[in-house]
Amino acid sequence: MLDWTVPMEWNIRDAWVKNSRGERVIDFQRSNLHVVGYSRPVRTRLSLAQLKGRLFTLPEHPDWIPYRTTYYTDEWGFCLTHREFLALEEDEYEVCVDASFEPGHLTYGECLLPGETDEEVLVSSHICHPSLGNDNLSGVVIAAFLGRHLAARPRRYTYRLLFAPGTIGAITWLPLNESGLGRIAHGLVLTCLGDAGPLHYKKSRRGNATIDRAMRHLLAARGGAHAILDFSPTGYDERQYGSPGLDLPVGRLTRTLPGRFPEYHTSGDDLDLVRPTALADSFAVCLELFELLEENRTYLSQNPKGEPQLGRRGLYHSVGGRPQEPEELAMLWVLNLADGRHTLLDIAERASLPWFEQ
Ligand code: ZN
Repeated sequence: MLDWTVPMEWNIRDAWVKNSRGERVIDFQRSNLHVVGYSRPVRTRLSLAQLKGRLFTLPEHPDWIPYRTTYYTDEWGFCLTHREFLALEEDEYEVCVDASFEPGHLTYGECLLPGETDEEVLVSSHICHPSLGNDNLSGVVIAAFLGRHLAARPRRYTYRLLFAPGTIGAITWLPLNESGLGRIAHGLVLTCLGDAGPLHYKKSRRGNATIDRAMRHLLAARGGAHAILDFSPTGYDERQYGSPGLDLPVGRLTRTLPGRFPEYHTSGDDLDLVRPTALADSFAVCLELFELLEENRTYLSQNPKGEPQLGRRGLYHSVGGRPQEPEELAMLWVLNLADGRHTLLDIAERASLPWFEQ
């Protein structure tokens, strides 16, 4: 796929490290984070010193299990809390990773919600992190609820929800769908949307796509702490959608940036880190975005020469000298820029008026 080869399918049944008394001191059955993802099968006996070379911990957070993977290498290892690590005694340990590599499938989920036009909004979230809440279950949950919401309402755009393993999932999906990529008018990668931090929107590679402008406008209008970031070729699947040969208008919405919260990629990223109010707020922003995109039309005034007389149509306040109402100001801007060349978003930006008061 593109420049990559989909690796063999990895399936794990069990994994453990037992001490000489036969006790499981590290046990995959207690947490699937205990095994380095994609570890090769192994069955061996090791001294403590030898075993330590295969263990990963977080000394600065001694109660959390790190999340580690070893894709594209022939390695194995275990992850455990630093507290458990310090409790390991000199002993001979029995190690088992009961896993297999087989020609199999790369599995992804895709949901298409057809709209009045075949222009698409792509919503993409990664599904590869086991037992982690903010990165990545929050993105999956928001995308799923967006799908349910969108399915029940009229849609101008067609919406495509993609749930795929990070990196290799998008890299597999893109060439299989290359003929339709031109239909993607707007796209959004969703992850890390449940923590209590402020919203961060990362712009698409284009930097001035409609979705970039829409998010900047919406987040500014909502007020509160937020940040707009320029595109960079790091992060999640925005870097696949934003590769130079594709350059799709796909941005990314998170709250605290991945890697910037201490629980990131550890067992500390659990359902206590995910706050219901933050998750609901992230969901609401996505709904506002889609509403804006759905309604972002270009209008052509039927009275373009001279200002239309609003009073005659009951659209202008009758008492002269009163300060202008925001609705009236918005109407004047729309009438002035309804020249077939400005979208409503163009007008909202130019008038510095928030979308949802227009
Ligand atoms: Zn991650």
